[in-house]
Amino acid sequence: MKRMPMIAGNWKMFKTGPQAVDTAAQVSAACRDVTDVQIMIAPAFVSLPLVAATVKDTPVCVGAQNLHFEAQGAFTGEISADMLIAAGAEYVIIGHSERRQYFFETDEMVCRKISAALSGGLKPILCIGETETQRDRGETFLTLDKQVSDGLQGFGPEELQDLVLAYEPVWAIGTGKSASAQQVEEVHQYLRSLLEKQFSFDLAQAIRVLYGGSVKPENINELMRITDVDGALVGGASLDADTFTKIIKFDNTL
Ligand code: PEP
Repeated sequence: MKRMPMIAGNWKMFKTGPQAVDTAAQVSAACRDVTDVQIMIAPAFVSLPLVAATVKDTPVCVGAQNLHFEAQGAFTGEISADMLIAAGAEYVIIGHSERRQYFFETDEMVCRKISAALSGGLKPILCIGETETQRDRGETFLTLDKQVSDGLQGFGPEELQDLVLAYEPVWAIGTGKSASAQQVEEVHQYLRSLLEKQFSFDLAQAIRVLYGGSVKPENINELMRITDVDGALVGGASLDADTFTKIIKFDNTL
């Protein structure tokens, strides 16, 4: 099955509003002719409406980096799905390893966030991935299995049509050390079979599975050639408009 590739930029806690607008304007101008790749930028919350206005009517869409699992309430400092939609977000990144590591997000919280995103009309990008220790211990598949089954517990295939899965080995994030093509291929194949087992063949074929972890212009072509890789979630290399544009315009003739 043909899945539309997606290249998503996670800007983390970088860029003020004006800086975000500037980079988003450059990326959307450089990519105005791109029709075969879904391009997404996830700026900081405060920049969401600004970036959404900047990329309006271009091939670029906007996502958030997190959300709260309640629809509203006394949760100081948090943000809801409705607020993100009103700010112009279409996607939301959920369960990024930095959220799991520094903000103690569990698979149970991730599951509640997926539910909040879907009820609010946001498309979730569920991030999963093993640490270096887990890989060294031979626990990669076990870790991913738990993150997928617990993170998506209770959903039926019909609810998950818009889900995007992002495999991000923790040891490859921000380290410059990308997973090898063989490691990525093995995991993406495994994830597709896991989705089939847990949900259905059709859903497993429909869901986009992105790779994330030190993606750059130099390795995107090799990654995109792997059968079960449907795109990339890019951190550091998405901050610079030229570099990000090179990734978005990967060589898809191969
Ligand atoms: C990320 O944070 O999702 C990520 C993949 O970062 P980087 O590309 O910088 O490794």
